[in-house]
Amino acid sequence: MNAPTDRLAPPSSARALQALDSAHFLHPFTDHQALAAKGARVITHAEGIWIWDADGHRILDGMSGLWCVNAGYGRRELADAAHRQMLTLPFYNTFFQTTTEPPVRLAARLSELAPPVDGRRFTHVFFTSSGSEANDTNVRLVRRYWDLMGQPQRKVIISRWNAYHGSTVAAASLGGMRAMHEQGDLPIPGIEHIQQPYYWDLRESGETPEAFGVRAARWLEEKILEIGPEKVAAFIAEPVQGAGGVIIPPATYWPEIQRIVDRYGILLISDEVICAFGRLGHWFAYEKFGIKPDLVTFAKAVTSGYVPLGGVLVNERVAQVLCAGGEFTHGYTYSGHPVACAVALANLELMEREALPQRVREDTAPYLAQRFAALADHPLVGVAETCGMVAGLILVRDKATLGRFPEEWAVGMTCRAHCFDTGVVMRAVGDRMIIAPPLIMTRADIDTMIDLIWRALDATLADLQRQGRWAPAVS
Ligand SMILES: *Cc1c(COP(=O)(O)O)cnc(C)c1O
Repeated sequence: MNAPTDRLAPPSSARALQALDSAHFLHPFTDHQALAAKGARVITHAEGIWIWDADGHRILDGMSGLWCVNAGYGRRELADAAHRQMLTLPFYNTFFQTTTEPPVRLAARLSELAPPVDGRRFTHVFFTSSGSEANDTNVRLVRRYWDLMGQPQRKVIISRWNAYHGSTVAAASLGGMRAMHEQGDLPIPGIEHIQQPYYWDLRESGETPEAFGVRAARWLEEKILEIGPEKVAAFIAEPVQGAGGVIIPPATYWPEIQRIVDRYGILLISDEVICAFGRLGHWFAYEKFGIKPDLVTFAKAVTSGYVPLGGVLVNERVAQVLCAGGEFTHGYTYSGHPVACAVALANLELMEREALPQRVREDTAPYLAQRFAALADHPLVGVAETCGMVAGLILVRDKATLGRFPEEWAVGMTCRAHCFDTGVVMRAVGDRMIIAPPLIMTRADIDTMIDLIWRALDATLADLQRQGRWAPAVS
């Protein structure tokens, strides 16, 4: 493990830090009363696939930070790239006819990495500092495009319930998280939602995943017809829904979606903030699913999370119209930040040298698929499924019917706590336990992770038994 040389100045004790944290730090997505009662878990340092907390526990980071540390922790060359760029040129803006080298080189590199669709390349990139800003950009960009195309009535963007597209006003509106909509009078006008392709919750009795996939895609067509095709601007979706619980669509879903967007001539936005940069075994997930987006949102792993960066890949079809259309009155101070772009370039170079997308596709993802599926042998697990290096399992009360536990028992949160105690980070989305581990994992790391998860499941089951909440299924 690496020994950080310059730790934070005092307060160095975890308790003092927790007290300051609770007194001053308004956290994202956090119940502060619960936080104050328990104190935040203080993470102090990390190396490879492991993080350490202030109590000295070593924990396998099954979530790659927050879906982003694809290259793992402690990569010196990323720190070196930031250091070098900060000394050369820490900042200059890219507004008003100026530019700097790192964003130019990064835009060209991304344009090279992204496979063309129907012979049309992703020629241009708009940079932001986050996925949320990138999706905000998409709303403005799509509206601008249709205005320039002489179809200003095309304003509606269709998304899906339980999607996650970020937390700004527009991105949260695009997202389909009802708890987020309830706080802040969202969604904003011009955004509509359809149901997600979640087979295990929405299948009809006897329906195959293949039949369900087609039926779920047709919800898009029904919505387009309901709104009026001439008013629909775009459809936005994550290839695999991440924050919603690693919802993996059946193989028939995306081809049918593509048929529908083609038929009505609407733009397709592939939000690949999680799915790109090797996560599903390809540089971009649209390759894997054979879809043809016009815009691709990226963020998170473009820098492996070492510094904030996001953006939108813009296909020729849209870029030509925008570039010929006069000034697009949109931009962020940090659009194309030289330090962030320098780190991204170093990160992409590292991923290429270590062939991380290929390694995932050919070796570790198939191995994870096999090992993770075996978790379904645990009495608590109904379904265990993977796609590339993301995976989800459903905690069930009755394996045969996939009967769930009462929501108020919060069995997922109990399991999550046991995971931390056992030494592996898993995230709970209701009764779905999910992972997205670093792509540098070896087969032996995967064995270790599966073993830790199994032990956390055992501890969760023991809790349920102790509470009298577990009875063998009656047949
Ligand atoms: C995380 C995420 C976002 C938001 O990115 P931020 O950098 O947190 O703003 C958008 N879309 C998807 C699919 C995400 O997972």
